[in-house]
Amino acid sequence: MVDGIGAEAVLLGMPGFVVRAVVEDDDGEVWGAVETTATAVGCPACGVRARSKGRRRVQVRDLSVGGRSVRLVWSKRRWTCPDPDCGRGSWTETHPEIQPRAVLSERTRRWVFGHARRGWRWNLTQERRLGLVLCEARHGEPGAGGDQAVRS
Ligand SMILES: [Zn+2]
Repeated sequence: MVDGIGAEAVLLGMPGFVVRAVVEDDDGEVWGAVETTATAVGCPACGVRARSKGRRRVQVRDLSVGGRSVRLVWSKRRWTCPDPDCGRGSWTETHPEIQPRAVLSERTRRWVFGHARRGWRWNLTQERRLGLVLCEARHGEPGAGGDQAVRS
């Protein structure tokens, strides 16, 4: 029998994340609720085991699946340092595949800008395939890793 959490992590293909739920909305867009697999972290300032301070949701567009656009909703953990002598306070978890305030997952950004660098011309079909609003792609910031584009 397949381990459900392991299988969902494999299907997502984003190491460090698991899928908690998947729904399809009335427009056919797929929404995936994801969380990181981390259960305990240390304070980045003093190393004391951090205490959970709840979660905050962020959403990004991800690579399409089966021709349907995908949004990931990440319930990011908020942590706080329990040591009263530590000045770190609270912080929100981070992951290299979903950057703070990003509108695209990193693999989607690499895919988009990998095509843009090669002179790929946007058209409406391609935008719909990615589920992107054109201005999101134009206002994103090209970065390293474009040659490692991940294809859906
Ligand atoms: Zn601390």
